[in-house]
Amino acid sequence: MSEVLMDVQNLAKHFVIDTDFLGRPVTVLKAVDNVSLSINKGEAFGLVGESGCGKTTLGKILVNLYKPTTGKIIFEGKDLTALDEERRRSYCKDIQMIFQDPYASLNPKMSIGDIIAEPIIINRLLPKSQVEERVIFLLNCVGLARHQRNRYPHEFSGGQRQRVGIARALAVEPKLIVCDEPVSALDVSIQAQVLNLLGDLKEEFGLTYLFIAHGLNVIKHISDRVGVMYLGKLVEIAPKRELYANPLHPYTQALLSAIPVINPENKKERIILEGDVPSPINTPKGCRFSSRCFKEMDQCKLNEPAIKEVFPDHFVACHLF
Ligand code: SF4
Repeated sequence: MSEVLMDVQNLAKHFVIDTDFLGRPVTVLKAVDNVSLSINKGEAFGLVGESGCGKTTLGKILVNLYKPTTGKIIFEGKDLTALDEERRRSYCKDIQMIFQDPYASLNPKMSIGDIIAEPIIINRLLPKSQVEERVIFLLNCVGLARHQRNRYPHEFSGGQRQRVGIARALAVEPKLIVCDEPVSALDVSIQAQVLNLLGDLKEEFGLTYLFIAHGLNVIKHISDRVGVMYLGKLVEIAPKRELYANPLHPYTQALLSAIPVINPENKKERIILEGDVPSPINTPKGCRFSSRCFKEMDQCKLNEPAIKEVFPDHFVACHLF
């Protein structure tokens, strides 16, 4: 039985866009709406969905960059949402984030060695005399060399900058790393290198990942389980092999059909979804996917389907099941 590291319960993040003259909210953007998932120790949980589905907002809540509107985050048995800000911040070290844009996330005025050393010093993890040795160790772990320690972010390529971002995240020996589309800003030729590096580091340091991506092809090799998100909700969760072999939700089927295949014999018919993702300010009644679903039924526009287990460890939110 796997040990649960983080248990997210009914988490929501609503942004108030507009209020009336009494300050009451009239326009609310529901970026994350009643999401529940658990991440086991040592696993890579892939979270996938189109831009704007709320996956990055969810990641930012988990690393304490946003406060949730409602819901609980149980981390190692402690409810982080019940802690005051000071005690909550003491857990920030354990939950780190690797950002999508490696250049924007690194201070251009600091050398990469200082960038990696900073969280070690702030969190007082090592005596000053040992910090430099640790920085060099981390640089080597991510495939960078000692002589690059005093260079600045602009002197590196996109892939190298992402390696610096990974080393910085590792510096505080986190228990969970939220990887927010860490390869989407990189050239295709570099993406595989960074994904392989993340896979190797997971094994070497026993890390746990929440790996966010907008396509199922990117997370195929790194994830143990996958959650599919649409318009602020999780619509399907399953172990990786099960999800790729037996996708149940029509949205997951459409995402899978978009993955290019090399062998023409394995080619499946591409499912083209009509229309755009609806606004999270004005979500459709009933099933949120109904406006684009190719299997829509009468009841779909009336009732929102709850997510339920239809096969062992395979959960789906759809009236077809
Ligand atoms: Fe499609 Fe209906 Fe299932 Fe929603 S509930 S995904 S509209 S079949």
